[in-house]
Amino acid sequence: MTHVPESTLLKQPLSSPDSVRHHLTSDITRAVLAIQRHLLGVAREHLTDAGFVEMLPPIIGPVTDPGTRGSKQVDVDFYGHRYKLMTSAILYKQASLLTYDKIFYIAPNVRLEPLETTNTSRHLAEFHQIDVEMAGASRQEITGVLERLVRQIVSRVIADLPAELETLGRDPSAFESLVDQAFSTMTHAQALEKLRELGHVQNTDTEIEWAGEALLSSHLGRPVFVTDYPKGSRGFYDRESQTEPGLLRNFDLLAPEGYGELCSGSEREYDYTRIVSRIRETGENPAKYGWYLDLLREGIPASAGFGIGLERFTRYLAGLDSVWQASAFPKVPGVVSP
Ligand code: AMP
Ligand code: MG
Repeated sequence: MTHVPESTLLKQPLSSPDSVRHHLTSDITRAVLAIQRHLLGVAREHLTDAGFVEMLPPIIGPVTDPGTRGSKQVDVDFYGHRYKLMTSAILYKQASLLTYDKIFYIAPNVRLEPLETTNTSRHLAEFHQIDVEMAGASRQEITGVLERLVRQIVSRVIADLPAELETLGRDPSAFESLVDQAFSTMTHAQALEKLRELGHVQNTDTEIEWAGEALLSSHLGRPVFVTDYPKGSRGFYDRESQTEPGLLRNFDLLAPEGYGELCSGSEREYDYTRIVSRIRETGENPAKYGWYLDLLREGIPASAGFGIGLERFTRYLAGLDSVWQASAFPKVPGVVSP
């Protein structure tokens, strides 16, 4: 039935029919979903007012984001061709800028995350992103868009849904510094230095490990942008710095209180030759990216963008123990459920 050990399974409330019913009928779930609905409504309103056009994202395609943290893709038989469920809409976001300069999707993603993520409280195998991309934008401009969006959503949830926050026992004062102060910034190297001080030592050329990210986040008073991840830790589409080769013009937004990563974003690579060599560096065959490379050969706009994890952001707003509580029908990695 399931690949996770029994002891782990007991911690997953949605592995029995009774617990599914309990989850769907609970006031907690209703309050969480009200917050998520409002989050989405305010995001759509705010982005539309800022000139972004909503487009519907594709669900399947010949190729999708390769991912770098060991999650697996899901194949779909498309009339004899092997298609993929989207793990991320990044390739399509870049292509969509041929239609409009500023776009967003509310995009579903499926990633068969490794079993060691079952108990991180931050991983689902199916989740959604608020996916934004803007032609011609620098990292500074796109982090500005993200910061204003996050602040607006949080402010409106606090103002409009006090009863739901109370049901969840979430004290709105937790968001005071987010609403009042600019988010802070540190580089990936500074984040690892801070982690070393906190007793967590890790490899400097890789992603921040799950445990390290939670530790760092638990020591933050307000959201922080972590910038300049090393090449190799992220996808080929995150632009490499011209002045500091080996570092990427990207960022994550980490929430405080231990909630961890809410969002990843970057300036993008868009030049055909650079992308082909970046794909090769990751050991992949560029030929598999056929339609995308065909578009790049003729040219696509320079851009920057980001993707906010909808369930992660909901979890943070609602103050939930685990991200699965932010979905009516959660897919926890390895756990069989509706
Ligand atoms: P990524 O492209 O991996 O950085 O994903 C973009 C955003 O989606 C992340 O910043 C998270 O907020 C969210 N996300 C990524 N993977 C998962 C997952 N397995 N479960 C829930 N949210 C996720
Ligand atoms: Mg990320």
